[in-house]
Amino acid sequence: MAVLKIARLGSPVLRQIAAPVEPDTIGKRVFQQFLDDLLDTMVETDGIGLAAPQVSRSEQVVVMECKGEHGFPQTILINPVIVGYSPATAESWEGCLSVDNLRGKVRRPVGVRVTYLDRDGKSVELDAAGLYAVCIQHELDHLIGKLFLDRMTDFSTLTHLEEFDKYRRAEHAEVI
Ligand code: ZN
Repeated sequence: MAVLKIARLGSPVLRQIAAPVEPDTIGKRVFQQFLDDLLDTMVETDGIGLAAPQVSRSEQVVVMECKGEHGFPQTILINPVIVGYSPATAESWEGCLSVDNLRGKVRRPVGVRVTYLDRDGKSVELDAAGLYAVCIQHELDHLIGKLFLDRMTDFSTLTHLEEFDKYRRAEHAEVI
């Protein structure tokens, strides 16, 4: 198990366009170990999603998992592309391991269709809705150098974690 260091707001790697993964490398042991390290880091930091640029590796790799009733299964996306968005949008609270201690409301489509390679190198097409879809969009933004702050249209909701806990505990926010 290895917990990797999280790149934080201001680190140039968070603003770069991530390179696609060469499919031949997916089966290699060192790459599989990297995927496990990403998962370990996400779990250890209480996140529900983590993109490779967040550990200073500018590659198109995302890991996600959210346990619980409204969660989603462990998902590993390599070279992901969103190929469809639902017309309906909704606002939800977002946080980010790279933007620690802040939460803000972001409006995004409520559903997406995404294609990617899984950790076996198999091509997958997935339809996701709700928190799963929000997380996919948030994480894929990391692969094009975007943070949830860039997606906020109203900064009046930007909230420090302590104030969030005090005033908005009833409203759900996940760190992705
Ligand atoms: Zn993030």
